[in-house]
Amino acid sequence: MTDMPSAADLLHLRGTLPEKGEPLSLPLTMSSVFHLPGDPAGVPAYGRMANPTWEAAEHALGHLEGAPALLFPSGMAAIAAAFFALLKAGDRLLLPTDGYYTSRLLAENYLARLGVEVEQRPTTAFSEGGFEGFAMVFLETPSNPGLDLIDIAETARAVRAAGGLTVVDNTTMTPFGQRPLALGADVVVAADTKAPGGHSDLLAGHLASNDPAILEAVRDWRKISGGIPGAFDAWLLHRSLETLELRFARMCDSAEVIAARLAAHPAVRAVRYPGLPGDPSHGLATSQMTRFGFLIGLTLADEEAAERLVDTCRYLRAATSFGGTHSSAERRARWGDAVDPGALRLSIGCEPVEELWQALDAALRPA
Ligand SMILES: *Cc1c(COP(=O)(O)O)cnc(C)c1O
Repeated sequence: MTDMPSAADLLHLRGTLPEKGEPLSLPLTMSSVFHLPGDPAGVPAYGRMANPTWEAAEHALGHLEGAPALLFPSGMAAIAAAFFALLKAGDRLLLPTDGYYTSRLLAENYLARLGVEVEQRPTTAFSEGGFEGFAMVFLETPSNPGLDLIDIAETARAVRAAGGLTVVDNTTMTPFGQRPLALGADVVVAADTKAPGGHSDLLAGHLASNDPAILEAVRDWRKISGGIPGAFDAWLLHRSLETLELRFARMCDSAEVIAARLAAHPAVRAVRYPGLPGDPSHGLATSQMTRFGFLIGLTLADEEAAERLVDTCRYLRAATSFGGTHSSAERRARWGDAVDPGALRLSIGCEPVEELWQALDAALRPA
């Protein structure tokens, strides 16, 4: 387990910056061009290269990650930047079979045809076969939707010894729940579309690393490919990050209570939550995560029971994303995930926990 970033410092990051009379809140800079006489070094030159609003969001994200961060227009844009800026023909890439589907699709459909060899292993057997010969090992822990864990420190050590880079997708935990760089990963990527944005109104992503060469390669990729964030989305994200610690703590506190009650509920067949003492992920979760997260894997009798819960629970929105202020749920089998037809992924939101529990309990009663 590693120290949490200071949530208090996050709220005062800008306060230490402005000159007398400047706004305390972040100004939104909507400009594609900047006044640029003479030597262009050291100032924003053109909107594809830099923007003061992105830089403020990156400053906050970098504070949270404990490493310089680069902002992207979506989580996938950050993951694409890690792949395309850091891999070349002939390299081998290892991914979890049970990680985010689109990351696997990007590797299979686009990297493979450029000569990158893409291999996949299930999270529960990820280190079997070792990491020799892999240029990049991509981790996602907890896996989604299965909620199995990979030991980040142990994997990163083995990957480094074999000469490769470890990249961790930390979307489900946020830096307040898990800090992959402090555990030894080379690169962290995340979809800020989820809990960091948190209000279901923006897409964004970021990549952070303490390795200046990696950061420069990724910054060049962003500038040259043009996959840049919009200034308004960066501004919204910056604003959302101010309440991330508060929202995330509430969501995790509630998830712990609700997972335990669901596990004891007669209508529930199975629960996966790393915070439950009997969960296969519990031991590792206690050592590498600072919180157990806000996602719960829930299996009901069948598809019908699962759909009924989502449709009738007053405080559950049917949605495929997670990490919003409102609780949401979906049956992952509808996307073809290899899970039970009655399995739901529950994303616990910011509702007061007793109101949320009463609504869940009422919707779980037999029809
Ligand atoms: C949502 C998600 C992404 C992709 O983020 P977008 O902003 O939708 O591109 C990547 N990884 C994980 C684990 C996610 O949940």
